[in-house]
Amino acid sequence: MKGKSYQTFRAALLKGETSILDEVKSCIKNAKQHSEHNFYVELFEEEALSKAQTLDNLLKEDKTHVLPLLGCIISIKDNICFLGHKASAGSKMLNNFRSSYSATAVQRLEEQGAIIIGRTNCDEFGMGSTNENSFYGPVKNGKDKTKVSGGSSGGAAVSVQLGCCHVALGSDTGGSVRQPASFCGVYGIKPTYGRVSRWGLISYASSFDQIGVLANNVHDMATVLEHIAGADGKDSTALNDPVPRFNMMHSSDLSYAVLDSTLDASIIEPEMLGGFQNALGYIGQDSSISSGIKFDLLDYVVPCYYILTTAEASSNLGRYDGIRYGHNSEKVAETYLEKMVNNRSEGFGLEVKRRIMSGIYVLSQGFFDVYYQKAQKVRQLIIEEIETIFTKYDILLLPTASTTAFDLGSISNDPIKMYHSDIFTVLANITGNPAISVPINNMEANMPFGMQAIAKKGNEAALISFAEKMSHMA
Ligand code: GLN
Repeated sequence: MKGKSYQTFRAALLKGETSILDEVKSCIKNAKQHSEHNFYVELFEEEALSKAQTLDNLLKEDKTHVLPLLGCIISIKDNICFLGHKASAGSKMLNNFRSSYSATAVQRLEEQGAIIIGRTNCDEFGMGSTNENSFYGPVKNGKDKTKVSGGSSGGAAVSVQLGCCHVALGSDTGGSVRQPASFCGVYGIKPTYGRVSRWGLISYASSFDQIGVLANNVHDMATVLEHIAGADGKDSTALNDPVPRFNMMHSSDLSYAVLDSTLDASIIEPEMLGGFQNALGYIGQDSSISSGIKFDLLDYVVPCYYILTTAEASSNLGRYDGIRYGHNSEKVAETYLEKMVNNRSEGFGLEVKRRIMSGIYVLSQGFFDVYYQKAQKVRQLIIEEIETIFTKYDILLLPTASTTAFDLGSISNDPIKMYHSDIFTVLANITGNPAISVPINNMEANMPFGMQAIAKKGNEAALISFAEKMSHMA
């Protein structure tokens, strides 16, 4: 099934050929029809229908001041807060948690006329690469039910893939927007660290987390990014830089570099390597591509990422004691400690526990220097090496993932293998650079996959220009 386009819908809406109410109904119908893919944890059906009616009326009254996202239907990942709605980050721990405020990104979308249609399934607290670590069960790929959607924003990717919204908000700590986008054949962008406020995003690893955008086309992705980005007094790490009109800025004059170490035939499926080379041929027709670019630290990105993110996660997740909110065990407890142990033991899933334990270990006395501090130094080295490459080129090209979507259940019992599958995506989170995955193989017969591009900090516009160029590749 083909996904929806806000740009096309908006044009028809403004000509009076359709209504927002009809579009919301169509998204809901598609979502129900594909419910076995398990991508919506909850549809805000009544509310979305009533908001659609209100916005349709608004448009009838005044056709001259049309909000930039009027009637844009958006799904939000289950770790993004929306006033008065549940947000559980795919965890039993937060199963009944209701948010008392909206994330800045959500608030900005609503102010511009968008409709939040539901919350999407994800790996628990964003920890996973297949969406199989969710309290609500796995998400199945929209192309093939026997395959995973990717993770952790698997529900977000499938909601876009199956035409159940125009655009999805996900979060990306180590690839969770780009990798499911690759597995599901859609566009996914992780902005520069700080470009989008993290206010209202349930924390996993705060120095890596970013809200990102998934869509079926470049225009919709860029439009939504533009409206959620920008300074925010509620997040001190949000950048103050002005936000460009991403949709208006298409540059054809970009220089590209390929990280040779990422094109290793021993880790990439041959079909994907072929697809990647083919895409390079297309880009090379009118742009300069430099190959032979060395990046010797590739082997260190996964260990560096997992040491630092588990450390941050163990600290961030320390707040869940289940006392004021969160899972409340029915077991009788004599002491606060016992109560907390019961709540946390029952509330957290296996992978989250594994990461909390790893994080505590790397931060513990005696191991702090050898693991945590060392990984911080490695992070700095990686940042410097990538910055040096960017003094010469606008865009770095590499695969998004080394495989297409895994079979369900095929790697879920092998955490190390799962961690290693993140090798190409964690780089941009370690450094904070913006990165995108664009579909380069959406052929009917095969599972999709994407090509990844990373740009200089603050230069999402280059990524959008690149994506626009790639959208014309036959
Ligand atoms: N797969 C990575 C992890 O499990 C990335 C997750 C993410 O970006 N939220 O940490």
